[in-house]
Amino acid sequence: MFINGEWCAAVSGKTFDVTNPANGEKIADVPDGGQADAERAIQAAHDAFAGWSGMTAYERSRILYKAYELMSARKEDIARTMTTEQGKPLRAAMNEVQYGADFLLWYAEEAKRVYGETIPAPRGDQRFIVLHQPVGVVAAVTPWNYPASMITRKVAPALAAGCTIVLKPAEATPLCAIEIFKVLEEAGVPAGVANLVTGFDPKPIGEEFVTNPLVRKITFTGSTETGKLLARGAADQMKRVSLELGGHAPFLVLKDADPVFAAKGAVLVKYLNTGQACICPNRLFVHESGIEAFTNEFVSRVEKMRAGNGLDQGINIGPLVNEKAIEKVERQVADATAKGAKLLCGGHRLMDDGLDKGHYYAPTVLGDVTPDMLIYREETFGPVAPIIAFDDDDDILAMANDTHYGLAAYVYTQNLSAAMRTFEGLRFGIIGINDINPTGAAAPFGGQKESGLGREGGHEGIFEYLETKLGGFSI
Ligand code: NAD
Repeated sequence: MFINGEWCAAVSGKTFDVTNPANGEKIADVPDGGQADAERAIQAAHDAFAGWSGMTAYERSRILYKAYELMSARKEDIARTMTTEQGKPLRAAMNEVQYGADFLLWYAEEAKRVYGETIPAPRGDQRFIVLHQPVGVVAAVTPWNYPASMITRKVAPALAAGCTIVLKPAEATPLCAIEIFKVLEEAGVPAGVANLVTGFDPKPIGEEFVTNPLVRKITFTGSTETGKLLARGAADQMKRVSLELGGHAPFLVLKDADPVFAAKGAVLVKYLNTGQACICPNRLFVHESGIEAFTNEFVSRVEKMRAGNGLDQGINIGPLVNEKAIEKVERQVADATAKGAKLLCGGHRLMDDGLDKGHYYAPTVLGDVTPDMLIYREETFGPVAPIIAFDDDDDILAMANDTHYGLAAYVYTQNLSAAMRTFEGLRFGIIGINDINPTGAAAPFGGQKESGLGREGGHEGIFEYLETKLGGFSI
């Protein structure tokens, strides 16, 4: 763990194992921190706050820029660590490290653009001035599926704003977090400004985050269930919260779309990170005029995918994170086929060629999916694509919006009005129009409804870590 500028063991002296999901082998052990460690880290962040927030934006920017350079230079090393502890293919891991580094660069720049405002006041002898100031100590919790970029997406804007931070990474992927904190340390982040608490059981650390009055903001990426738990806890002391939660993205292929082009995009985004991304499509709605061409193209591409260890060449499907993830996928596929879905490919665990040692599930395609099936409502977080036919473009908005999630959605169409109507009508935070990757450090990322609160990235991202203060002056 990294607390108050020092690498340290847990107060309890305990450690826990980190394993490779591709083969079950132990790769490291890391400190098993708990409530006392979280408390110590929060105190260090509190003590460092005055100094860090008192530095100029230019000084903070220079440190973040240095961190960007170091992280970019170590791209391959960090990516190898990521593939080994998380499982994604090395090329995808390299892309993620770059995406993660981009947040350091973007917020090194945004640090210098926290402008205030002067506002015409109602009285002639009065002046209104608006300032933005850092909220204080931030407690951050991040997931295993994007173990580097989800960290910098929080740490970079928090530090740019002048906040100090305590981060708890996912128990499955603490090694990427350790690599990033080494980068921050070498970049010159002062002691106590950025603290890392690793732990196998997230509950006592989470409990300390929500109950310790020194923490003024909780930022979380993970499941909707845990997000609600933290938000409920944070409400007691009215801490600010940002939540990036689950999704159930619809992927719409309208009547006039090119179904083959759409299928190509759909395969890429559905099986991204073996389906373990919050923006992966979870319902593929295809107009019946194009369903045959779409499905044929989709299935033929899926059949060519190769599963295996992400460090090997030519692998596009890595392991799932753990046995629970496999069980969830098995349950959804069994439920769908029992209720009449057609299994078009996959539909089973992968056991040959040593894959039985990891958590592998074949990339799977289901046809004839209907609203009564679990997969139609529940987030899958695995490599299963449910295809649903529809016959009227006018109904599709209501069908797509029929979910309590609201993170990402995709639309394929060649009709400009249909593109604009669906863009405006979809109740989701991120819409790809003939585009499967509407993300980037400069773009606001976040969800509506039960997919979350607040935005990360873009110029919005830094405001999650700033208070707005009004000064009314009589002159
Ligand atoms: P999770 O909620 O189980 O875990 C996420 C993090 O929360 C981990 O660090 C975990 O240790 C921690 N956590 C769990 N219980 C906690 C508690 N009681 N107190 C404090 N921390 C606790 O989710 P997961 O299964 O690891 O991640 C997958 C989920 O994350 C999916 O639902 C996915 O859609 C979502 N996700 C969302 C985004 C986004 O930006 N919206 C990005 C990636 C993942």
